[in-house]
Amino acid sequence: MKIRFWGVRGSFVAAGAEFVRYGGNTACVELTEGEKRIILDLGSGAIPLGKVLLAQGAEKKKLTILLSHTHIDHIQGFPFFAPVFHPKAQIDIYGPRGAGKKVDHVLDESLNPDYSPLFSLKNLSAKLEFHSLGEEPFQIHDFEVTAASLPHGRIESYGFRVEGKSGTVAYMTDVGYPGGVPVQAAIDLAKEADLLIHDTTFGPEDWRGHEKWGHASWEHALAVAERAGSKKLALFHHAPDRTDDEVDKFVALARNAAPKGLAVIGAMEGEAGVVEI
Ligand SMILES: [Zn+2]
Repeated sequence: MKIRFWGVRGSFVAAGAEFVRYGGNTACVELTEGEKRIILDLGSGAIPLGKVLLAQGAEKKKLTILLSHTHIDHIQGFPFFAPVFHPKAQIDIYGPRGAGKKVDHVLDESLNPDYSPLFSLKNLSAKLEFHSLGEEPFQIHDFEVTAASLPHGRIESYGFRVEGKSGTVAYMTDVGYPGGVPVQAAIDLAKEADLLIHDTTFGPEDWRGHEKWGHASWEHALAVAERAGSKKLALFHHAPDRTDDEVDKFVALARNAAPKGLAVIGAMEGEAGVVEI
């Protein structure tokens, strides 16, 4: 399975020379195995991804998108994701109920004329189908997907476990553990995963004082990886003001603290950051 990061930032897009190496787009990750594909989140990284997909003729196959939640940094690429304007494109979007509204309702509202010239989902040409996430494993193409609700402040944020023929990826962006103790659901999702992609908005020091923000530190990510027996950890959802050099420092600190056998990387946009499992 090939994992390509199209956006690795949290909260908002980071612009400027000091963010170029890891990349400034917000969350979007593409998983491919042969011809099969799953897209995780539609942050601004989905905008360049959408162009590439159409150039590859993506409208000929169904696209599947899993949304962890609908905070703006995870959906801001949606109204600019080129396949939604293609009349032959078919797109399945799985998402949580957020603060009580279904995912199609939230995305529809995000297009209303106060925010967007698109006005409504009805004005998108693609055939869109929406699904509410539950906790039962389900099949997408040849992937087995398990979703689990994880604590993220006052709303639900889903983590995913995607098992393919060649390996397993666990994705948990935007998660904050009460008291800093990883919840069992996160450990279960990451169980023996070849790659765990985990929120590292904070370092251990700055997490203190932000305990209720619904985000994790690299220490929490390491704890999940260690308890789950994951093989590789990608630090993800970098704070938008964390420069490339500062992300390097986080990676170095986490590598030093990592248990034997656990590789640690910083999630990086583009071809340079591709992970193969
Ligand atoms: Zn986020």
